[in-house]
Amino acid sequence: MRRAILASPNTIDWEDLPAPTPAPGEVIVRVRAALTCGTDLKTYRRGHPKLAFGPFGHEASGDVVAVGEGVRSVRPGEAVMWVQTAPCGSCARCAAGDENLCEHITDDMALGAYADYIRLPAKVVARNLFAKPQGLGYIEAAFLEPFSCVVHGWNVLRRANARTPIPHELAIIGAGVIGLLHLVYAKHAGITTTVFARDDRRRDLAARLGAASMVVADFDSLPPERAASFPAVIECAGTSESWQEAVRLAAPGGRVLAFSGLPKGTHVPLDATRVHYDELAILGSFHFTPDDVREARDLLVTGVVPARDLISGVLPLASLSHAFEMLDHRAGHKYALIPEPAQAQWI
Ligand SMILES: [Zn+2]
Ligand SMILES: [Zn+2]
Repeated sequence: MRRAILASPNTIDWEDLPAPTPAPGEVIVRVRAALTCGTDLKTYRRGHPKLAFGPFGHEASGDVVAVGEGVRSVRPGEAVMWVQTAPCGSCARCAAGDENLCEHITDDMALGAYADYIRLPAKVVARNLFAKPQGLGYIEAAFLEPFSCVVHGWNVLRRANARTPIPHELAIIGAGVIGLLHLVYAKHAGITTTVFARDDRRRDLAARLGAASMVVADFDSLPPERAASFPAVIECAGTSESWQEAVRLAAPGGRVLAFSGLPKGTHVPLDATRVHYDELAILGSFHFTPDDVREARDLLVTGVVPARDLISGVLPLASLSHAFEMLDHRAGHKYALIPEPAQAQWI
């Protein structure tokens, strides 16, 4: 089997390995579709604070080819989807109910999705592996991981305001795939949403996907009365400036979800007067819990995620380096890689 290794920034190598066999509790999957992700691009460009270089890719779906001793939930031949991590269930963070912050969340992950086969560790099999319904394509099913992150963000937002868990109006900063997935969720929840994005094609896409009231080019064209007017703001642009803009847009009593991670060591100066006197809630959001994954799965199977609009192209797995070169040059936003070259089309 082939497996892609991110060896160092901007360098993808290929390993040639025997097909894996499952240990007790594990499952081996033949990958049918794997998706590029913003986290992969960040790691490709500069490394990642929580992930080492090595087997590359984490968003995928496929068919079970072998199950280890004790696995009863899936059978060989069954189509499945999963996320790459699962909490340990026994550390202090897990005991406190913050399973997304599990101290061992990055131990034994299902990495290496850009490959012919992938091994799913026992904890992933036990908590975060699901059958893929027939009506959901392999590429759509591979959206489970990014959509789980988005659903977690919404659960953080919801818990921060017991009186109005779901805001009536929302601003999203950034229209990358994650910003657009937040928009999909907001539209599904019936929330009037404004998307801020620099690129016109992204703005058009946001408008098509249902950004309701207005979609503006940049903050300079924002009518002054709209500053400090949004009861909730989700920041997905990933810059220190966009974190500051998020605070500027939030209405008194509002919630700001800082969804995107910034490079290690970044400090963001915030308007302390606004944060204190306007009682803004600044909320972090990281990863997901198994409950978030289940909620994302339940929504995904209803077809709410317009996967075709969010995928820039479908390529054979052998074109992985080319896909990352294109992403690095902002050509496209998310590619699907298909190991079987004859099936390198929408599946
Ligand atoms: Zn991802
Ligand atoms: Zn834990």
